[in-house]
Amino acid sequence: MTRDIFGDSPVRERNYASDNNSGSCPEVVAILEEANQGHAPGYGDDLWTKRAEEGIRELLDLECEVFFVFNGTAANALSLATLCQSYHAILCHRMAHVEIDECGAPEFFGGGTKVIPLSGEDGRLSAEAIEEAVLRRDDVHFPKVKAISLTQATELGTIYDLNDLAAIGESAKRHELRVHVDGARFANAVAELEVAPKELILASSTDVLCLGATKNGSPVGDAVVFFNRELAVEFEYRRKQAGQLASKMRYLAAPWLALAENDLWLRNARHANSIAECLKQELESFQVKVLFPRQANSVFVDIPEKAQAALREKGWLFYVFLGKTGCRLMCSWDLTEEDVTEFATDLREALELE
Ligand SMILES: *Cc1c(COP(=O)(O)O)cnc(C)c1O
Repeated sequence: MTRDIFGDSPVRERNYASDNNSGSCPEVVAILEEANQGHAPGYGDDLWTKRAEEGIRELLDLECEVFFVFNGTAANALSLATLCQSYHAILCHRMAHVEIDECGAPEFFGGGTKVIPLSGEDGRLSAEAIEEAVLRRDDVHFPKVKAISLTQATELGTIYDLNDLAAIGESAKRHELRVHVDGARFANAVAELEVAPKELILASSTDVLCLGATKNGSPVGDAVVFFNRELAVEFEYRRKQAGQLASKMRYLAAPWLALAENDLWLRNARHANSIAECLKQELESFQVKVLFPRQANSVFVDIPEKAQAALREKGWLFYVFLGKTGCRLMCSWDLTEEDVTEFATDLREALELE
């Protein structure tokens, strides 16, 4: 147990606040140590970057153009800006990171592109909702719908399976929409579905995937991956203009080589998913209400406010995501079964106080 930065309340070493609260996994640290030797050319002209780009191509088993950026917001906003003109619109789920967690970055970098949030069960966008939104207006007074943004795994811890993606891919084709995938937790979806990443990418005719590493054992650096290579033309200028071209690119690139080796990215994700499943089962064993199907590395549960306070007293951190009692328990790659048991014990105790 440590203290928080203000030193006035206890905070556990590992917690459920976010998978970006965890550190880097040992393999990534080791490769960064290696990449730290000697000099290397700047701005991505180094061997680490070339190898990491190639590593991602092998990992996904598809021809693609790869660009490293510092974070997911930049990856999303800059890639969406390449899919759309300023008078276009992007359809996404109303809980999508691009809609509620990026301070309007997609609209800003798109120069006015409108993000249109849609409802959908369990955090997923449906082909029907897309059809309806596209067909609602086709006149010049409303921005032209040009792109769909899917989050895989979703913000509510669910995933799109191959059927969901195929249906969305069909709609996209029918209406000539481009498809963007926010893959901050793409690894968790691949690990859960146990399909080749390529299949998920092709099922929805993905034009661009923002592939996250930060929440899966890396310190910093996500990848923008264009399968539609025409869209990648001049992307490097956009990245530079946005201040996202790292001069010491090797530090953003090298972690990917460790994550690609022996499918560490999937092993980390699989572990995080299994901890979430374990947590879900523990909590359900004493009738805690689980709000959405557990399909990735988070569990959403209903915890009364008093019990939340009692948990915080014991150093547990988590976000209240929905209303006042819908809590998100996010599981990082480094959580252990003991972390689950301890949390469950404390929650059970806290609920008895109610
Ligand atoms: C974390 C996250 C991102 C990336 O956020 P940054 O903080 O900008 O790295 C993007 N999409 C989703 C769904 C996320 O959870």
